[in-house]
Amino acid sequence: MELPGLGTPRTHDFGNGVHAILDMETIVDVHAANVGIITTARAQVFINSGQTEAQAQFVWDYTQSKAPRREMTYVVLTHHHLDHCFAASFFDDRDALIYGHRSFGSCMAEMRKHLEANDYREMVEAFLKIDSETCRKHIGSVHPISPHRHVGEETSIAINGEEVTIIHLPGHTECELVAYHPRSRILFAGDAINERAGPVTMFGNARDWRKWVVGLERLKKLEIETIVPGHGEICGPDIIDDHIAKLETKIAEAV
Ligand SMILES: [Zn+2]
Repeated sequence: MELPGLGTPRTHDFGNGVHAILDMETIVDVHAANVGIITTARAQVFINSGQTEAQAQFVWDYTQSKAPRREMTYVVLTHHHLDHCFAASFFDDRDALIYGHRSFGSCMAEMRKHLEANDYREMVEAFLKIDSETCRKHIGSVHPISPHRHVGEETSIAINGEEVTIIHLPGHTECELVAYHPRSRILFAGDAINERAGPVTMFGNARDWRKWVVGLERLKKLEIETIVPGHGEICGPDIIDDHIAKLETKIAEAV
């Protein structure tokens, strides 16, 4: 059944408490970003929040059905784009500790100016080009949250004897983060990797894309078996070289 603001999500169970939710749809034919889930004996970590209340509720209910309520809840916001982080307040209401890059706030402020919006509601309406009635029906009562913990170059969240490493990988946006889970060798890549569209370069210039390539080269030193991209299908690490090649072409064209 399709609900407004949810679409028909696909769930993927990697085993060992790691999951991904794909294909959530905010309005017809407009997908929100993929969401990653890592659970351990006492913690649950969400990579991105979904965009609507219905999406956050779906992600939450799915996780509780797989791994009943944990003592600690973390959310990693891979960047400030509203398809990734708009429903963060849903998790804040459930006492999650929310991580974002230290430039998350300034990136968000810049986007608000660009969209000529006074508040989050106006931002998401302008972002999706929808009216307030559609917004109310599809988005529900959620909004972005300023991260509680700022990430610089790299940090890790320790969760019951294992960890999630959060790495700054600017290029798509200045505040882009990826999250790596060594135990499962899964990388949750945000929009540093976009399986559906390829690298989306419209928010930066050749200097930013150069940083992006450097970041992707660094990822190749990690033992990555599987990538959950910001958008599109779950894929293998070969896509890193594919993105590097596409970015190199872009950089060459821009010179
Ligand atoms: Zn994005």
